[in-house]
Amino acid sequence: MIQQFIDRMPKIDLHCHLDGSLSPATIRVLAERVGIDLPDDPKDLTAMLTAPEDCSSLVEYLTRFELPVACLQTAENFYTAALDLASDAASENVIYIEVRFAPLLSAHERLPADVVVRSVIEGLEEGKRRFGVKYGLILCAMRHHPHEMNEQLLPLAEKYLGSGVVALDLAGDEKGYPACKHHQLFADALKRGIPYTIHAGEADGPGSIWSALDLGARRIGHGISAKDDPELMKHCAAKGIGFELCPVSNLQTKAARDWDDYPFRLFLDEGMTVTVNTDNRTVSNTNLTREFTELDARYGLTTAEIERLVRTSAAVSFADDQLKQELNKAFDMFLAEYQSAEN
Ligand SMILES: [Zn+2]
Repeated sequence: MIQQFIDRMPKIDLHCHLDGSLSPATIRVLAERVGIDLPDDPKDLTAMLTAPEDCSSLVEYLTRFELPVACLQTAENFYTAALDLASDAASENVIYIEVRFAPLLSAHERLPADVVVRSVIEGLEEGKRRFGVKYGLILCAMRHHPHEMNEQLLPLAEKYLGSGVVALDLAGDEKGYPACKHHQLFADALKRGIPYTIHAGEADGPGSIWSALDLGARRIGHGISAKDDPELMKHCAAKGIGFELCPVSNLQTKAARDWDDYPFRLFLDEGMTVTVNTDNRTVSNTNLTREFTELDARYGLTTAEIERLVRTSAAVSFADDQLKQELNKAFDMFLAEYQSAEN
C-alpha cells in the first residue's frame, strides 16, 4: 500500500546534479555528437556511469562524472541533457525539480558560461512545456576554483534569477577546500539577493556545516555529519535549516557507514528540517521512488510522514510563494484522489 502511495505521489527533488543524472541512452547521443567513442556493450557503459553499491569512497564515486562532463561541452548537448532529465523526472511524477550543475566546468572561449546556462534553461523550459515538470536551476561554484573564477557566477545568477535560476551552491572537494575560502562569494550573493545552498557534512565533519552556516546558508547539501554534534542539530532545528538528504548516494560515498549509522530518524526526532532527494540519478542508480522505498524498508514510513517530507521540500525549496502553493495543491489533489480510491 505504501509502495503505491510512493509510486503515485507528486514528488519534489531539491538536490539533483545534471551531469550525474543523464541516462545511458542520452549519453550515447551526446557522445556521438562530440566524437567520443563508447563501448558497445550496455553493461560496460553502465559501469562507466554508475558507481557500485559498495563504492569505496567519494573519490571513486566522482570518477563516474568524467564521461558526462566530457559530453557536456556544447550548447546543444546541454539542452538535450536538461530535457532528458526533465523527461526522466516526469516519468516518476516529479512535479518540481531543482537541477544543479557547475557551468564553469564546461565553459571555454567558444562556449561562454552564459550560453551554457541559457541552454540548460531552454532544455528545462521545454521539459516543463512537454512534461509539466516545474524547475529551478542552481549554479554550483566549485570549492577548488579560485574566487576570481567563481565570482563569474554572480552576474550570471543575477541575470537569470526569476527566469530559470533560483540559487547558487558550493560543490566539490569538501575536505581539501573549506567553505570559508569562499566567504566573499557568498557575502556578494547575499548583497545581491541571490539565495544559496552549500554542500557540507558529506565528506567532512560538523565543523564544515558550521562554516556553511557562518556563510549564511539556509540549506545544506547532505549535512550528514551533523549527527555527531548535538549542539549543531539543535541549532539547525531552531533555525529551520533545510537538510537535503540523499540517502542512496550518502551510503555510497560513505557519508554514513551503513543504514544503522544513517541519521534520517535522528534528524527528524531532533526536529530538523529534512528533505529527501536523489543527488545523482545515474551515478547512484536511483530516483525519488527508490529513495522513499529504501527509507520505508529501513524505517517503516507512514503516509503522513511521507506527506510531511514532500511538503517540507516545497517549503524550503527556492520556488516563489505562488509555486510553493501550487506544489502543495498538487499534493492535496493527489491525497483526495488516493483517499477516495481507498474507500
Ligand atoms: Zn550533491
